[in-house]
Amino acid sequence: MNDCIFCKILQGEIPSKKVYEDELVYAFYDIAPAAPVHVLIIPKIHLAGMNEATEEHKALLGHILLTAQKLADELGISKSGYRIINNCGENAGQTVFHMHFHLLGGDTFTSLV
Ligand code: AMP
Ligand code: ZN
Repeated sequence: MNDCIFCKILQGEIPSKKVYEDELVYAFYDIAPAAPVHVLIIPKIHLAGMNEATEEHKALLGHILLTAQKLADELGISKSGYRIINNCGENAGQTVFHMHFHLLGGDTFTSLV
């Protein structure tokens, strides 16, 4: 996608602070952290958001969650706890339309649900 900022990050056209990368996903620090640990995990393929995910992406979605679990451990927030967030669409406050999962930790969070 030509005008997608996360595709540009994947292509190295926009700098990012890499946390982890493999053949399916890329993880980097959020530019405006909402918690002491705030990492974004994105698929290397462009999907605008959860609404675009299909059965075909099942393994990818599982891999993203297990990557979040692994990074939480590596970043030292496994025991204290962490939150994994996906915002989908306007009401949820999605601002970047390349699917991403926030990994947040190092602080306590108010409960939404
Ligand atoms: P969302 O509101 O779920 O769409 O989240 C988008 C997130 O991307 C926000 O937390 C932003 O701070 C973050 N973000 C936007 N641009 C960049 C960037 N260039 N590098 C890192 N994070 C970014
Ligand atoms: Zn993209």
